[in-house]
Amino acid sequence: MSYHVNENGYYGEFGGAYIPEMLYPNVEELKQRYLEIMAAPEFQEEFNQLLKDYVGRPSPLYYATRLSEKYQTNIYLKREDLNHTGAHKVNNTIGQILMAKRLGKKRIIAETGAGQHGVATATVCALMGMECIVYMGAIDISRQAPNVARMKMLGAEVRPALSGSKTLKDATNEAIRDWINNPEDTHYIIGSVVGPHPYPDMVARFQSIISEEIKMQLLEKEGTEFPNYVIACVGGGSNAAGAFYHFLDNEKVGLIAVEAAGKGIESGESAATSALGKTGIIHGSKTLLMQTPDGQITEPYSISAGLDYPGVGPLHAHLFCSGRGEFVSITDDQAMKAGMELCQLEGIIPAIESAHALAVFGKKKFKKSDIVVLNLSGRGDKDLSTYINYFNL
Ligand SMILES: *Cc1c(COP(=O)(O)O)cnc(C)c1O
Repeated sequence: MSYHVNENGYYGEFGGAYIPEMLYPNVEELKQRYLEIMAAPEFQEEFNQLLKDYVGRPSPLYYATRLSEKYQTNIYLKREDLNHTGAHKVNNTIGQILMAKRLGKKRIIAETGAGQHGVATATVCALMGMECIVYMGAIDISRQAPNVARMKMLGAEVRPALSGSKTLKDATNEAIRDWINNPEDTHYIIGSVVGPHPYPDMVARFQSIISEEIKMQLLEKEGTEFPNYVIACVGGGSNAAGAFYHFLDNEKVGLIAVEAAGKGIESGESAATSALGKTGIIHGSKTLLMQTPDGQITEPYSISAGLDYPGVGPLHAHLFCSGRGEFVSITDDQAMKAGMELCQLEGIIPAIESAHALAVFGKKKFKKSDIVVLNLSGRGDKDLSTYINYFNL
């Protein structure tokens, strides 16, 4: 079985490009050119140089001694939290801004929920001197003031989405409307392995630097390129796609994807897409999504803003349905405890998204000889007020 995208843009039955007629030229242009542009040596050189000198790659692969001792296995943390801007998202936005330049685009648009992708996009637009417009739900703008300030400081214009529930899906609709109206000069930077083909594949390739480095680093440390397991949290699925990418075809490597169960899968307040989702279409892609019996998208919930997404990328829908990936749901409480545990055992304050992945150790027993790589997708600075409120610090 193949776990890579086919020539029609599908992973198994998932993916494709379900887009309004008027977006067709933009998406088709990207589809025709993305592979050729990415393969060009000058592109590779500029991308790798920026990942090294601007982002600070390679990110360390750190053997977590005290955590390993506690769970009686061998745990490595892939330190995406140490990247410039504090998470993996910048790997993708750097790749896409270079892509936009090659496509002759002058103007960048993006949508953001919690603001993390907006900040990563505003960052690379400042770096390249490009105009940047970030659509954000009006409710999210008031909930995420620090990230709104960051985007403004980086020179982006933050435009409120005032329709619907005034959250991420409404911001996405506004961004798509903008793209339809500005097809010539604008590139739309999508922040995860979601959206119409070729976005899921393009973003996975940009993030695949994570597993490329894991292989090299593990070879040096353990004499093998292949761990027994890779664990990553899944919102849309980009950090997981990057951490899994070079292991997809080696079925000896277990792939564990961790979703947010919020207040519990059965509580009506969760973002556990694989557990609760049904096939449907969201953001131009056929995938699993949480929806009502008549097909309305359900508003998701998680204590971590980055996992608060009602769908999942088509690659992950395929990994779930084919059984290649093992999907685990973690509640708010389990994640918060695991986040605090990492602080106290290793001196690392994780993003609450990444803390969901860490909570797997409390749920699943690994062998003493196993090598388990956990992708630590981001740092917890942005989550300090959530930690303070949760633990009464
Ligand atoms: C945005 C975010 C996520 C979730 O996004 P994916 O596309 O699923 O990776 C996970 N961790 C952190 C730190 C994030 O900022």
